[in-house]
Amino acid sequence: MSKPLRLHPDRLFPVDADTRSVARRLYAEIAGLPIISPHGHTDPEWFATDAPFANPAELLITPDHYVFRMLFSQGVSLESLGVPRADGGAVETDPRAIWRRFAEHYHLFRGTPSRMWHDWVYAEVFGIDVRLCVETADHYFDIIDAALKTEAFRPRALFERANIEVLTTTESPIDDLRHHQAIRESGWKGRVLTAYRPDPVLDPDYEGFLGNLRILAVQTGQDTATWSGYLAALRDRRAYFAAMGATSTDHGHPTAFTADLSRADAEALFSRVIRGPATAADAELFRGQMLTEMAAMSVEDGLVMQLHPGSFRNHNARVFERFGRDKGADIPTRTDYVRALKPLLDRFGSDPRLTLIVFTLDETSYARELAPLAGHYPALKLGPSWWFHDSPEGMRRFREQVTETAGFYNTVGFNDDTRAFLSIPARHDVARRMDCGFLAKLVVEHRIEEDEAHEVARALTYDLVKAAYRL
Ligand SMILES: [Zn+2]
Repeated sequence: MSKPLRLHPDRLFPVDADTRSVARRLYAEIAGLPIISPHGHTDPEWFATDAPFANPAELLITPDHYVFRMLFSQGVSLESLGVPRADGGAVETDPRAIWRRFAEHYHLFRGTPSRMWHDWVYAEVFGIDVRLCVETADHYFDIIDAALKTEAFRPRALFERANIEVLTTTESPIDDLRHHQAIRESGWKGRVLTAYRPDPVLDPDYEGFLGNLRILAVQTGQDTATWSGYLAALRDRRAYFAAMGATSTDHGHPTAFTADLSRADAEALFSRVIRGPATAADAELFRGQMLTEMAAMSVEDGLVMQLHPGSFRNHNARVFERFGRDKGADIPTRTDYVRALKPLLDRFGSDPRLTLIVFTLDETSYARELAPLAGHYPALKLGPSWWFHDSPEGMRRFREQVTETAGFYNTVGFNDDTRAFLSIPARHDVARRMDCGFLAKLVVEHRIEEDEAHEVARALTYDLVKAAYRL
């Protein structure tokens, strides 16, 4: 017997009746606002070609590290989920077999945000009304597979149906942005922007770093073997990205460490780094110096800077060797901001031309470091709860710990930060509901008035995002 799949209209709202009714009223006003997605990792090729998604597994399972990390943790091999191997070794290719394997393990997601996002997609996008389990796996596969073959489920149609006003992808400076070019030339009205993610050419520990600098040299005609040529090449690519519509950069460094070296010291460090391999200390100092260089360029060209530190990338050496990066083996680390950001903030923290949006995977830093920093420095804003904390409880902890010091207006609304395209509206809906719940509590405690809560709810959903990201 299959069980019904129901999305409760009051899901995620506070449980007591008074607060719940305020939350409902707040949510009703903002539920229909367009989605602003200023940071994420969807593939621009989807919107450039508008080709149909191949099958349910390729859309919903194989690219989603939230999904396969959980299955992997319970002994399901990545090969059996069709995750491509770096060495070209054999993996499962039958999408129905992959889908059945996922359905068989769907109970593992109980209590996780992945479960909420998936159920939302099944109910709202595909109109399915029974719960996913072994018995309903084929029913799901057939419905989704058939839908994906229709015009209404092409990437652009789904983008429009989700009411996305703007969606930002993330590309390396050495990307030629051909897909963004194609989107612009296609005449389609959907607004898909890129963001400049220079880790592959700023981080000496990034795979292929030295080769990437050579590509950068060919692209820009600059001599990237000299410090001034390297900086000029980075500036050149920023200008290209900005001309293609980018309004932001993004930096995924292992720490938030920044440095502000003299020109002579920076030059000497650069020549040590490009002789390679850099020592761990030089690599960290170089990344830190480059964050400050990027801030300097942002002051000139207006690109908003995002810092996503504190992830120990590719923690599982065996998985990295076999499958490459971004395979669900990134683990949060303790992260310092107060000392780490000081060199950069000493130079630019009070400069109104800079916006630096800081994220964390270390929730202990919210009240102790991040809220006080953002509640002081004009250049600094707090990004929303991120990645492992992009969840109802994570959002609640974020608001509870930062609001009293940083207020709402030093935060920037929600980022979905996802590769899983269909989950975008689901994730934004969770954020909207959680914010309304938090605001409703302030209203019933008589800390703000309900009309103010309406204004804040709208700001968090829409206005603050557009302002912070200059969209
Ligand atoms: Zn991201």
